[in-house]
Amino acid sequence: MKQMNVDVAVIGAGTAGLAAYRAARAAGKRTVIIEGGPYGTTCARVGCMPSKLLIAAAEAAHELRHTAPFGVRVDGEIVIDGRAVMERVRRERDRFVGFVLESVDGIPAEDRLRGYARFVDNTTLQVGDDLQLRAGRVVIATGSSPAVPPPFRALGDRLVVNDDVFSWDALPRRVAVFGPGVIGLELGQALSRLGVIVRVFGVGGGVGPLSDPAIRDYATAAFQEQFYLDPDARVEDMQRDGDEVVIRYARLDGEIVTERFDYVLAATGRRPNVANLGLENTGLELDARGVPLFDPATLQCGASPVFIAGDANNILPLLHEAADEGKTAGANASSYPEVSAGLRRATLGVVFSDPQIATVGTRFADLPADAVIGEVSFENQGRSRVMLKNKGLMHVYAERGTGRFLGAEWIGPRAEHIAHTLAWARQMDLTIAQMLDMPFYHPVIEEGLRTALRDAAAKLAG
Ligand SMILES: Cc1cc2nc3c(=O)[nH]c(=O)nc-3n(C[C@H](O)[C@H](O)[C@H](O)COP(=O)(O)OP(=O)(O)OC[C@H]3O[C@@H](n4cnc5c(N)ncnc54)[C@H](O)[C@@H]3O)c2cc1C
Repeated sequence: MKQMNVDVAVIGAGTAGLAAYRAARAAGKRTVIIEGGPYGTTCARVGCMPSKLLIAAAEAAHELRHTAPFGVRVDGEIVIDGRAVMERVRRERDRFVGFVLESVDGIPAEDRLRGYARFVDNTTLQVGDDLQLRAGRVVIATGSSPAVPPPFRALGDRLVVNDDVFSWDALPRRVAVFGPGVIGLELGQALSRLGVIVRVFGVGGGVGPLSDPAIRDYATAAFQEQFYLDPDARVEDMQRDGDEVVIRYARLDGEIVTERFDYVLAATGRRPNVANLGLENTGLELDARGVPLFDPATLQCGASPVFIAGDANNILPLLHEAADEGKTAGANASSYPEVSAGLRRATLGVVFSDPQIATVGTRFADLPADAVIGEVSFENQGRSRVMLKNKGLMHVYAERGTGRFLGAEWIGPRAEHIAHTLAWARQMDLTIAQMLDMPFYHPVIEEGLRTALRDAAAKLAG
């Protein structure tokens, strides 16, 4: 067994791990980064980037089909060449992965260890079969994986997760998507727009990340106009039959129907990759999901020299959060036992559905009981109507008394951009009145936001 000693060991070469490695190196520590799977990061290989590439193709198809109300006719058939669609998704995805691989290549070879790491004790790791690594401090940045309920396993290769979709050579004909969370909504809508027959089934009524019931109900109805979505579905039976999956379920109108699908896409949540880390060999206290208890500000696990960042810690599974947390964890691992709170930005989440969904700051579910809610519908909003994108409902939340802007949840046009404006306002701790003093051009979708802010201001004054 080979032995090695380092100051800092980072487990996982994803976004969080790479940021942690760089921070520890910048602090002058002898650091290694350990990767068991393929290099390239979840975001670039099977996450943010390929999903947005598929959605871009779907949007192109959708726009072409919806020109008539403008008096613009597309003569002739709209042909979706599934092979060409998937070829572009993979080609562009590989380009993005290539940039990550270049940056990994830039890491000195002696700092890059290959193999899965397991804890032997708090600061000793077994890497693969033949290396034992002693590290003064450890950063866990092992990411997350799709959590597939056990009964789905019986479907064999007819069961797919997001990773599989992006390696398809062509588009299938019929897909049942389980889970209308962020991933299920994005992929389900995109496949539907690309001509795949899609059914999206959920449990419990949730849609995307929305916790505001009014916005969630509006979003459900808006998507149901476009594709089959039952956020609280009754699926009575699901069996594999040859190369198909046969599903018996109660349709939205209550009728029991049986349909055949080429694939079942499980988008039923993600689970932090901690199960095979040997955490039972450490002195770390674990939560019910097996994740070490940690301080969300410093990312330190208890008082130990172990830190946890990115999807592995299961608090904010988003790319920019993984990057920030990796930096914090790497810096604190380097300065341990001195640790300090890292940068925490205003929370910001976007679903790349159409209309888009966004959440900023405090969610509806976490609001104080007396919070003020300002509202706007985008249905008659000028700019949205001009573009025939006039679908959406927004709630902005304010603190009674101070008038501080707390957060927002909404579905609506170009939400990815307004979400940034609002997240910046939240981080600057602006009041609704201060936000209304900011410039608004005409005619823009942001004028809809202004209507919601004015509504909140009137209610604050009332
Ligand atoms: C379909 C999809 C779409 C998404 N879209 C968006 C989006 O639009 N915007 C957004 O902000 N976020 C999005 N995300 C989330 C985003 O991709 C993740 O939050 C982010 O990639 C997490 O980075 P990470 O470094 O924590 O994990 P990863 O990038 O997964 O890195 C973890 C690494 O650890 C390695 N590893 C695991 N265990 C071990 C071990 N024991 N030893 C050694 N190595 C190990 C893994 O092989 C992996 O390479 C999306 C995710 C998915 C799945």
